[in-house]
Amino acid sequence: MTEVWTVNPGRPDVRIIKKAAELIKKGNLVAFPTETVYGLGADALNSEAVKKIFLAKGRPVDNPLIVHVSSGDSVYSLAGNVPKEADVLIREFFPGPLTIVLEKKPIVPDETTAKLPTVAIRMPSSRIALALIEASGTPIAAPSANKAGRPSPTKAQHVLEDLDGKVDLIIDGGATEVGLESTVVDLTVKPPQILRPGAVTLEMLRGVLGTVHISPTNTQNLVDRELVARSPGMKYKHYAPKAELLVVIGSDNDVQRKISELINDFDTKGMRIGVATTTGKKYHVNHIESLGVTKQEIAKGLFDVLRRFDEVDVDVILVEGVDEEGLGLAIMNRLRKASGHRVIDA
Ligand code: AMP
Ligand code: MG
Repeated sequence: MTEVWTVNPGRPDVRIIKKAAELIKKGNLVAFPTETVYGLGADALNSEAVKKIFLAKGRPVDNPLIVHVSSGDSVYSLAGNVPKEADVLIREFFPGPLTIVLEKKPIVPDETTAKLPTVAIRMPSSRIALALIEASGTPIAAPSANKAGRPSPTKAQHVLEDLDGKVDLIIDGGATEVGLESTVVDLTVKPPQILRPGAVTLEMLRGVLGTVHISPTNTQNLVDRELVARSPGMKYKHYAPKAELLVVIGSDNDVQRKISELINDFDTKGMRIGVATTTGKKYHVNHIESLGVTKQEIAKGLFDVLRRFDEVDVDVILVEGVDEEGLGLAIMNRLRKASGHRVIDA
């Protein structure tokens, strides 16, 4: 049912890309790697094809999709009244892990944008993704290729775990580079607002645009009616592992001390404990995973580690948080969501 074809991400095999593009043109689903995470792709301009994405993922129909293009110019055929900030971001960050939200043109079906008057557009830098969009001759709508609510897939194996039998083809291009989904910036408001932080950081965006706001939903468990209306994806539960997850933030020393205390408490209660470290400290617990030390490493492996905790028998997972500078903002955003906003300041 689901075929998996392996492709060299540096030099994608043209024949395989062509076969995958035929599936997209016929209105079928193809999962493919991008530099951020694996996407579940369909022809973004074919509403019947787009509906299949929602069905396969179990995605609520009011959660819009990102439209992937293979050139900066394509933005102008999908979006109208494009502000000058968009020109700047396209020049500076396309192709790359940045999605821009703009006023949509009628050519984009309501199914793709979940009836919003706006459309989210990104040009990935992954060669496989670019070649597939190019060969399909149409923009490709692609949310992360996971079952709704699960951590995003950063390996073909993760896609297979969640969507076996529900997608026609998975292109396996190895582990994705960035590991976290793209930064989403809303350019229909002034000043521009980050709806979801990613590898194109707040600092990088401010460097080229000046004032940039960050949506309060990034750090708070806030259900802001107006914001939810603008980006409905925000209200859904994300990335949650089966065990309860707690994140501890503060200086390395404070974090390690607090986690040791928590381990004692949970141990007394007879609970099975997992830890994900970012400082490399060894704790005596049932299962320990290292997230790496640099923010790049942590981002790259985070979702894989969250998935791995589902395979071991633990009741609670304690995670050493990171500071929110640079890529840290995106890492902490995913950890806040995965923990249901249970973040302890040590
Ligand atoms: P995913 O594709 O799984 O990374 O999810 C796409 C994210 O982009 C979700 O959080 C969506 O809510 C958001 N998104 C997509 N289209 C729009 C849009 N038109 N306006 C605001 N947010 C959007
Ligand atoms: Mg997703």
